[in-house]
Amino acid sequence: MAMNIGVLAIQGDVSEHINAVKNAMDFYKIKGSVQKIKRKGDIKDLDFLIIPGGESTTISKLMIRYGIFDAVLERALNDELGVMGTCAGSILMAREVVDDSRVKTLGLMNMAVRRNFFGRQRESFESEIHIEGIGNYHAIFIRAPVIERCSPPCKVLAKIGDKIAMAKQGNFLALIFHPELTNDPRIYKFIFE
Ligand code: GLN
Repeated sequence: MAMNIGVLAIQGDVSEHINAVKNAMDFYKIKGSVQKIKRKGDIKDLDFLIIPGGESTTISKLMIRYGIFDAVLERALNDELGVMGTCAGSILMAREVVDDSRVKTLGLMNMAVRRNFFGRQRESFESEIHIEGIGNYHAIFIRAPVIERCSPPCKVLAKIGDKIAMAKQGNFLALIFHPELTNDPRIYKFIFE
């Protein structure tokens, strides 16, 4: 079956994600297409949506303004649409933002996140992490949030120190790093499972 994958094109590394998904589709021999998502009408035939990094407050506001927020929520909650949020996108996935109640999140995953956790000194950095189902992985963090806790059915897939770097709940994924910036298709294989 061909997969129809979309990358939310409001902010962030949209074309990098599109290229990374295309590479991963070639690598895993997956048939389908990947397109930019700008309007709520674009959501209706999607199988999977990627929400890139950027500024979570802005992404949330514009998703609401364009009607994309409710369209995503409805299909995701009906089990018709998988969603992966990376960096700021992971904030959108969380049920709770512990330090900022202004961000309206989709709340698809049973987890709490904290924005800009790593602070100014370590605005961006790279680190080797271990991801369940993948193994060792070189991750790039840019003004990353952190997943502070996650409770069932949300499952921890990777940690950085004593904090959570990646989590999965059914067809929903949250990553605090940027998989589109490394030349490694393996994160995207979760989309095809
Ligand atoms: N600090 C951003 C936020 O809280 C996320 C940073 C990023 O996506 N690179 O929205």
